[in-house]
Amino acid sequence: MTKTAIKPVLVIYTGGTIGMKKTERGYKPAEGFFSSALRGIPDLYDEGFPEWELYEMSPLLDSSNISVPEWNSIASIIFERRNDFSGFVVLHGTDTMAYSASALSFMLRGLGKPVVFTGSQIPLSALRSDGKDNLITSIMIAGEGVVSEVCLYFGGRLLRGNRAMKVSADGLLAFDSPSFPPLAEAGITIKYNTEVIASSVDDTATPTLSLFSAVPIGVLKIFPGIQFGLFEDIMTEKLSGIVLESFGAGNIPMGEGSLLPIIKKAFASGAVVTVCSQCPSGTVSLGEYETSSELVSAGAVSGHDMTTEAAIAKLYYLFSLGLDKDEIKRKMECNVAGELTERRSL
Ligand code: ASP
Repeated sequence: MTKTAIKPVLVIYTGGTIGMKKTERGYKPAEGFFSSALRGIPDLYDEGFPEWELYEMSPLLDSSNISVPEWNSIASIIFERRNDFSGFVVLHGTDTMAYSASALSFMLRGLGKPVVFTGSQIPLSALRSDGKDNLITSIMIAGEGVVSEVCLYFGGRLLRGNRAMKVSADGLLAFDSPSFPPLAEAGITIKYNTEVIASSVDDTATPTLSLFSAVPIGVLKIFPGIQFGLFEDIMTEKLSGIVLESFGAGNIPMGEGSLLPIIKKAFASGAVVTVCSQCPSGTVSLGEYETSSELVSAGAVSGHDMTTEAAIAKLYYLFSLGLDKDEIKRKMECNVAGELTERRSL
């Protein structure tokens, strides 16, 4: 009987702290620096370790500079090479990793293979780097193929990519997914949470690459005393997708100078307004309080327990598909790629 060859893992280095070099102007990625740091980690070349290949993007970027064109490039590389590899590791700066992981979860629907985002808070070449474990464990997860979705591994936990958020600017446990349990925890062994892995993500979809276009999207964080009138022109004339970061369960200030007429006008001019919460966990529940009751009649939709990162990525996705406004509104409230927990309205 011939043995089926196990495919290697493709490690895509996009930039980010894990491969950065200290310069006079602060940390920045430098070509070839990361690959030479890898040679100092013998475990990666161990016989029992999954085979892997490195693909270095050009230019290498601090993730603050990663947006739609880079998402399109990373997703295209993965899609085109999906049959050559058992899984993918995307090494990425931590600052926008949750946005990119969310974006790729929509761009690569039905891929059916692990895509593991990771990085580090301390460069691989520095003392006490957290990059070594993050990299080694991510390659193992990508090689094992137990998860077949876009996820994010950091500090011992594997999180669903479109549920993750960066929660610490300097801690080594820099990510969390407060509204969704970890897909796996890596202690002495990697323990997968199989029930959670099986839920929510629709794997029956055929592999599709959905590239994003530069949809004009805005995020408005509500705060006490906000003067809504100042935002009227951008919201009604310039933006297609708007994420409102509301108080608590979806509440906004009412009364004089309220946001509602602006939302109505934005909706009439083709914008889709999605209400997310400023709280990292819990869900938006429009209509629970008087202060959210009129949002729906004004044309806004509930983002339920979606992160702002996922809501932004989903707006890019749905608008890039060319769907009409009503279809986008409907889909924003439904689970598409495991990004939200659907909830019956009150
Ligand atoms: N500024 C860096 C980046 O996001 C931070 C990091 O990688 O941790 O690229």
